[in-house]
Amino acid sequence: MSETSDPHENAAEWRNWVGDQRCTPAAVATPASIDELAAAVRDAGETHRTIRVAGSGHSFSENVCTDGLMLRLERLADVIDVDRSTGLVRVQGGITIHRLSRELAAHGLAMENLGDIDVQTIAGAISTATHGTGARLGNISSQVAELELVLADGSTLVCSPEQDPEVFRAARVGLGSLGVIAEVTLRCVPAFTLRGVDAPAPLQDTLERFEELALGNDHFEFFVFPHAETALTRTNNRAEEAPRPRGRASAYANDVLLTNHAFELFCRAGRRAPRLIPRLNRLVTALAGRSERLEGSAAIFASPRLVRFTEMEYALPRRHVPQAVRAVMEMIERRGFAVPFPIEVRSVAADDALLSTAAGRDSGFIAVHMYRGMAWEPYFRAVEAIMDELDGRPHWGKRHFQTAASLCSRYPDWDRFQEIRARLDPRGRFVNEWTERVLGPVGGFPHSSDPPTRTAARG
Ligand SMILES: Cc1cc2nc3c(=O)[nH]c(=O)nc-3n(C[C@H](O)[C@H](O)[C@H](O)COP(=O)(O)OP(=O)(O)OC[C@H]3O[C@@H](n4cnc5c(N)ncnc54)[C@H](O)[C@@H]3O)c2cc1C
Repeated sequence: MSETSDPHENAAEWRNWVGDQRCTPAAVATPASIDELAAAVRDAGETHRTIRVAGSGHSFSENVCTDGLMLRLERLADVIDVDRSTGLVRVQGGITIHRLSRELAAHGLAMENLGDIDVQTIAGAISTATHGTGARLGNISSQVAELELVLADGSTLVCSPEQDPEVFRAARVGLGSLGVIAEVTLRCVPAFTLRGVDAPAPLQDTLERFEELALGNDHFEFFVFPHAETALTRTNNRAEEAPRPRGRASAYANDVLLTNHAFELFCRAGRRAPRLIPRLNRLVTALAGRSERLEGSAAIFASPRLVRFTEMEYALPRRHVPQAVRAVMEMIERRGFAVPFPIEVRSVAADDALLSTAAGRDSGFIAVHMYRGMAWEPYFRAVEAIMDELDGRPHWGKRHFQTAASLCSRYPDWDRFQEIRARLDPRGRFVNEWTERVLGPVGGFPHSSDPPTRTAARG
């Protein structure tokens, strides 16, 4: 194991992908085995340090930040076992989704659904309920068959639907607050091809038909720029044909030049001259044409992101999506917010992880973004006020202003999660300021029967 505990070495600052969440841990450990991981956790207990695990740092929230021990699992990032006949694949928690997808493809397997980037670690993605889109498909944590955790006392615990099922339901979306996910068994599917069609469509029609489009396609999502009346739809369906991967030059032109580099220029123009944004948004929308791809699922799901931004995303009962999108668009016009990023709308099937954003309900997700260097807080607070009225649950890896007191009534199994947390981490080892805010202190958390309170936090 390598641990830096010399005060000079400790000066290494940790930053998230955007660069706006930073911390200087007292120590960083990068264990190379479960034994080393358990020893690092035990040592932290003996020196009274709190612990946070860092994945790839692709959360927008301050969920990783710590002044205690930061654990990084980049040396626990391998595939352990692949059973092609059952599709069960065991991996170490630090493996990135990119590497995982490549290894799965080599065995003729794939994940049934993924988010729109693939640089996260599997444990980081699971822990925040990271999701893609697909009204009949759950988030990534619902593709987990078994977890092995290293607990606060250094012991290990294996959980699955058969073994410790309550802990399994808690740990699938554990927010890094129950223990360290050392190993994960994933339920994978035979590799498949997706036909991806991007096409503009009238916004009102897309909203009216949202349920039908979400349920009638394997993966449906759309983007809409504020002030525009056209939705940019993205429809990915399974195809029987073999993939026809684009050449590298064409892939680069589409993913990097058109959507990333050109978009960066557009965002910069908007940041310099915010009053031009409504016109720029309509122009970009008008330029978007129809395109079609036929590729392996992982290549369709994820694309590179070069433009840095911050983000808030809310899960709502899916039927509320049209109303919520209209309310956000109308609020942006009324308040005059300068927003050079589109609103993104996706669907995810209900699942049973205790703190999953889709726990117990088929969900629609609405994400709002702000370009780096532009004011995001007033805009995000105004969006959050709309989501509060619609029973919204914030993405655990993205910005929001909720507190444990405002969140507890939004999760039917909130109290059960807290009881399991108090049992697995009784001394509050896996805490930081963020867990104190969104979960409350271990053992002293607000209960779901408490009267709801409104939001107040920093975000
Ligand atoms: C450009 C971009 C695009 C994104 N796209 C999507 C998307 O399409 N869909 C979506 O839902 N989200 C999306 N996200 C959010 C992202 O998927 C989540 O925030 C995810 O949790 C990040 O994973 P990570 O490996 O970077 O983990 P981190 O952000 O480093 O950590 C996330 C949480 O997991 C905990 N954690 C990490 N590893 C472990 C472990 N081994 N054991 C226990 N706890 C652990 C951390 O303590 C922390 O609480 C996107 C983010 C960015 C920056």
